[in-house]
Amino acid sequence: MNPTTELLARNERFVQEGHSELSFLPRLRTCIVTCPDPRVDPAQVLGIELGDAAVVRAAGGRVSPIVLQQLLFLQLAGAAAGQSDVGLELVLMQHTDCGITHLQGPEHREALAAFLGVAAEELDQKAVADPHAGIRVDIDALAANPFIPGSLSVSGLVYDVASGRAELVERRSPLREERTESAPIGSATT
Ligand SMILES: [Zn+2]
Repeated sequence: MNPTTELLARNERFVQEGHSELSFLPRLRTCIVTCPDPRVDPAQVLGIELGDAAVVRAAGGRVSPIVLQQLLFLQLAGAAAGQSDVGLELVLMQHTDCGITHLQGPEHREALAAFLGVAAEELDQKAVADPHAGIRVDIDALAANPFIPGSLSVSGLVYDVASGRAELVERRSPLREERTESAPIGSATT
């Protein structure tokens, strides 16, 4: 049996077990960003049920240009469905023993920097070898990005592939304190 045949057989069991239609909006109002590593599936690790959360998976679970594009797409899709501002939680989950840490040698630096959207000489600031530091770097990057709504709550987790435990490194809610706008000229009320 090839892998696809195996997967379709599993899908048949899934259908037989009973399936009902779900909303395209995540029940937990959550979007999870994590690594494609097969040990790091949020369905198992975080008990995500079908329909609970949108999941974006890209190398390292890092906030790379690919991930930003996906987040902007999800934001657009949510806005198109009239759900642009519903107190969304963004959960970043990086993990120990990540394959991205194997790309730090000089022969991979350019490719890794391009993936992360930085210049090769800025790579050290991305803390690729340290998921705890990487989470903080990525939350800061989101907070500094004007295209990411400041009203989001953002949590950063590190998942330990050896123990199975996910640990909260930081939660920022809201992501950004909106600057108090000074009243527009001529708007003063009496
Ligand atoms: Zn990984």
